[in-house]
Amino acid sequence: MTGPDVAELVARARAGEPLAVGRLLSLVEAGGERGRQVAAALADHGGRAHVVGLTGPPGVGKSTTTSALVTTLRARGNRVGVLAVDPTSPFSGGALLGDRVRMAEHTEDPGVFIRSMATRGQLGGLAGATPQALRVLDAAGCDVVVIETVGVGQSEVDVVALADTTVVLLAPGMGDGVQAAKAGILEVADVFVVNKADRDGATRAVRELQHMVGFGEHDGWRVPVLRTVASRGEGVDELVAALHAHRQWADGSGERDRRRVARAEAEIEAVAVTRLRARIRDVHGGADLADLAKRVVAGELDPYAAADELDPE
Ligand code: GDP
Repeated sequence: MTGPDVAELVARARAGEPLAVGRLLSLVEAGGERGRQVAAALADHGGRAHVVGLTGPPGVGKSTTTSALVTTLRARGNRVGVLAVDPTSPFSGGALLGDRVRMAEHTEDPGVFIRSMATRGQLGGLAGATPQALRVLDAAGCDVVVIETVGVGQSEVDVVALADTTVVLLAPGMGDGVQAAKAGILEVADVFVVNKADRDGATRAVRELQHMVGFGEHDGWRVPVLRTVASRGEGVDELVAALHAHRQWADGSGERDRRRVARAEAEIEAVAVTRLRARIRDVHGGADLADLAKRVVAGELDPYAAADELDPE
């Protein structure tokens, strides 16, 4: 084993040391034996931080809103984590954060931990890696962790649906709404935000969303439709208030516990699937798989029978 041991890293991360937090995030993302040690060391963490998922079509102002949220939460003395999730990117880790210009003002702040995650193919994908990263940030004393997604695809929906509170951001203009509806993100919203409220059409967008939300309540929670001008920080206090209100409701109604269980399910499944995949590849190697595939193509085997040969029992 190389580098500082896990117990030492955990102690340093608990003290809020950014380098230790970054190392732990890398270890859980990579999985493997040390990832497992980190998971064991952090087993009793993962319940304190308020996990806020933020999603919406590209260009609506997600990273601007995240940055404005961080500013507001920091002004209130909160420690904040940001996980920027991009399932389409092959890169992860800290290296790309320089590109995220809108977060640049926070990168020197020791009370803010920012990380981009793009764990395609690792630890069962994002639904597996994200809860573990959350646990690291929880241990590091974050009061709020914002999971910001870069686009709107199924994996983004899966990830933000695991948050305690899910914010769906839209902007004036029908195109965004249609795109969001297609991707299925409207259903997962606990809070709607119409950003770019300084643009024409904001009132109409708010009205349309209010119409869609209707007067329905889910166990006493009515999805609010807020308006912000994130680039000027307008409406962000109201957004923070809505986040707190939802957290209180979710604590009281049992919804937060339900989502934490769903997060744990995703984690367990990811670990199990990753393990199964590794076992199949270890036992049979790529050669067997390629051979079976050729036999399926040749019509000698059906894929179920081929899978039986890979994983008998
Ligand atoms: P993302 O792709 O959803 O993360 O969107 P960004 O945060 O990168 O914002 C996209 C563009 O919209 C940037 O040029 C922002 O400066 C701009 N923008 C963000 N919020 C607002 C807003 O409230 N009003 C206006 N007019 N522009 C905004």
